[in-house]
Amino acid sequence: MRNGHKHLFIPGPTNVPEPVRQAMNVPMQDMRASDFGDLTLGLFEGMKSILQTTTGEVMLFPGSGTGCWEAAITNTLNPGDKVLMARNGQFSTLWVEMAQRLGLDVEVVDVPWGAGMPVKEFSRVLGRDKDDKIKAVFVTHNETATGVTSNVSAVRKALDENFHDALLFVDGVSSIGSLEFQMDTWEVDLIVTGSQKGLMLPAGLGILGASQKALEAAKTSTMRRAYFEFEDMRKMNADGYFPYTPPTQLFHGLRTSLDLIAEEGLENVIERHHRLAEGVRRAISAWGLSLVAEHHTLYSNTVSAVRVPQDIDARDVLRIAYEDFNTSFGSGLGPLAGKVFRIGHLGDLNEGMCLTALSIVEMSLYRAGMPLQLGSGVGAAQAWYATEDHARPGLHIAAE
Ligand SMILES: *Cc1c(COP(=O)(O)O)cnc(C)c1O
Repeated sequence: MRNGHKHLFIPGPTNVPEPVRQAMNVPMQDMRASDFGDLTLGLFEGMKSILQTTTGEVMLFPGSGTGCWEAAITNTLNPGDKVLMARNGQFSTLWVEMAQRLGLDVEVVDVPWGAGMPVKEFSRVLGRDKDDKIKAVFVTHNETATGVTSNVSAVRKALDENFHDALLFVDGVSSIGSLEFQMDTWEVDLIVTGSQKGLMLPAGLGILGASQKALEAAKTSTMRRAYFEFEDMRKMNADGYFPYTPPTQLFHGLRTSLDLIAEEGLENVIERHHRLAEGVRRAISAWGLSLVAEHHTLYSNTVSAVRVPQDIDARDVLRIAYEDFNTSFGSGLGPLAGKVFRIGHLGDLNEGMCLTALSIVEMSLYRAGMPLQLGSGVGAAQAWYATEDHARPGLHIAAE
């Protein structure tokens, strides 16, 4: 038995804001009622503004981000199609595996875990592909295993510069609603996310954005699919209905999440993620530890993957945090197990919560045997948060 809150600083599921939790505490309702569209139609519109699209379409699948990966692939490609993908962490690796399982001919570019999407290599491969054999390029916007944010618009540019027609797929599961994402401007064809990360909801909804070009490709796609058939979904969605029972509680939660984000302003939400993440990074640096992300331009504002010193096992740090201090952090995935722990800093989060996380990391590292100065990381983060105006040089000017 434990007193107080159990703290959750994993990169999903994230903390659910109290108004969202309460919004979901409603009676079951008739998903064929004449007024059901009053709830659902606005969700498509709200998600479109989060994805920054006016021309694309949004679909909401009962499922998770992984389900939407499958939906995106099976609705727009053909068996044996050649696709270009990269592996820079656990999630991009799983996506490659899925594409292979589904029968695609995957050209994989392997880069070190900690690197971003290999835009130059993508560009070279696309340049060589004179007769457009490659039908799709896949980008993991934010690799949650390594805390690396890649440049989606640079991949779009690589496609354009090579006059290449491939579809652009983006995994935005740990970026959408937290990091800048421009579906229309970057001409992303398929974007997938889940409810339990930046959207601050329980798991259970897979969210997919499809461009007109993707919808056009869906008309001739011959891959096998059943549950995730776009056409079944779109036909019913037109009036706000679904081809199978949708999770209405999650819809009520999503309504409130979208309202909260709109109230704060999407730009401010993105700015807050930067400000909070920067404090976390200053603490990590004050401890003398380094991130898995190779370069500061790749640092993720939603999750930091931190390398522990060689004589420390990151699993001990995680166990101490959980058992002694009631707090969860993310583990090192795949080859990073034992070497890395991750701090999730996305969703419903503020300075005080980040300082709690950092203070518990500090104590856990200390107990695990790392000779650090207690307070050093927390102090560095406080120094950043306390002088928050420095982080926003435009603020004074705007206020005058
Ligand atoms: C969490 C995550 C996934 C998996 O999403 P699920 O909703 O768990 O299926 C995929 N990609 C990235 C980048 C993620 O962070």
